[in-house]
Amino acid sequence: MLDICLLGTGGMMPLPNRWLTALLVRYQGRKILIDCGEGTQITLKTLGWGFKTIDVICFTHYHGDHVTGLPGLLLTIGNAGRTEPLTLIGPPGLKKVVEGLCVITPELPFEIKLIEVNEEEAKEMRIEIDRGLFIKMLPVFHRITCFAYVLELERRPKFIPEKARTLNIPVEYWKHLQQGETVRINDKIYSPEMVSGKKRKGLKIAYCTDSRPVENLVDFIADADLFICEGMYGDDADKEQAKKKKHMVFSEAAQLARQAGVKELWLTHFSPALTEPQNFIKVATDIFPYTKVGEDRMTKNLNFLEEK
Ligand SMILES: [Zn+2]
Ligand SMILES: [Zn+2]
Repeated sequence: MLDICLLGTGGMMPLPNRWLTALLVRYQGRKILIDCGEGTQITLKTLGWGFKTIDVICFTHYHGDHVTGLPGLLLTIGNAGRTEPLTLIGPPGLKKVVEGLCVITPELPFEIKLIEVNEEEAKEMRIEIDRGLFIKMLPVFHRITCFAYVLELERRPKFIPEKARTLNIPVEYWKHLQQGETVRINDKIYSPEMVSGKKRKGLKIAYCTDSRPVENLVDFIADADLFICEGMYGDDADKEQAKKKKHMVFSEAAQLARQAGVKELWLTHFSPALTEPQNFIKVATDIFPYTKVGEDRMTKNLNFLEEK
């Protein structure tokens, strides 16, 4: 249902065997990318999920390791034959950054739509990018304005035929109601809620890099099926450095995951100096056992829970 791929796990600069942190989510053939540092298109190519159907690219912030891959990727998407508009979402400065980077891509065969969101708007905003699939953002705490992102896939309540029968709704209208549409029959309006059961849990993916652990992150990522979080440093001895540079150590990410009650945590955005992040896994799993050290192109498929 939702296919997730952590395209890279590096921070600051790409390494020969570690691309910069970026996340790709695929839903019904369409794709959303979060962050696009130098070389992101190469790891995308290795993954092989295709370029043409990348509909949305979100930016956490405009440090080079999260944006400089954009012009090359846009050219590749164009070469793959895309003609439909592509949407870019990000904090203030998006227009300036995109215009600057895209001086070298003047002839893209598709339109670029920009959604530049200020910090106030970010707290309220929920953008529906596909039917039932929403993007939300939260300003976090880095050296420059930075957003964490949540992707939420809603699950429609179950259609209850008995309710439709009781309301005398003809069967030919059921399909529309099942698809979440409101129907009008002889001047009467019937909404999907009138013929459905109780609310059902959807799916939630949260992504936070780069930031210090801030308190409102806990609510924002609460109950996520997957939380992808930066862990610039593995060792708690680097906590002062993390505070200074506005990053996190593994234990801080794990603490967030535990407080928020997420199902699983993937660590990413490792410092180039952290050559073996796996050596520090225990620091995180002692706090939050369902932690994985991210690896380039680690994937996961999320589906709605089976109902009894
Ligand atoms: Zn970074
Ligand atoms: Zn940064």
